[in-house]
Amino acid sequence: MNLDSLYQEVIMDHYKNPLHKKLSPEPTVQVHHVNTSCGDEVTLNLHMDGNLVSDISWEGSGCSISQASTSVMSDLLRGKDEDEALKIVADFLEMMQSKGTKSGDENILGDGVALAGVSKFPARVKCALLGWMAFKDAVTRSRSGE
Ligand code: ZN
Repeated sequence: MNLDSLYQEVIMDHYKNPLHKKLSPEPTVQVHHVNTSCGDEVTLNLHMDGNLVSDISWEGSGCSISQASTSVMSDLLRGKDEDEALKIVADFLEMMQSKGTKSGDENILGDGVALAGVSKFPARVKCALLGWMAFKDAVTRSRSGE
């Protein structure tokens, strides 16, 4: 089995068995993001406990990449300090904008590295980033107290 097919399997596994895909009640912030170029949607509930990302839960629909990537994100960033979580988002964004030149650090991005290959396909990058950008938006809003 080569790395690409292993990564395909990681993505399909998250797509078929998404993590934290059930909105937790009474979030600190709720955001809804859409990727019109593909028709992907995600509603994200963020729970903050001080600076701690205590819970990330979501609902969504769309292609396997958008849904799998949101599943990876929700599991990876929960329990992190908000600055640490935003740093991980920045690392993921850098990988996704690398046009296939960066493979990502598995110690930081976990299953997110399975999406590295998507960065070679500009039309799909927005799919992979949807959930991550929703999270970043939610954290920003929680900071400004909206
Ligand atoms: Zn998509």
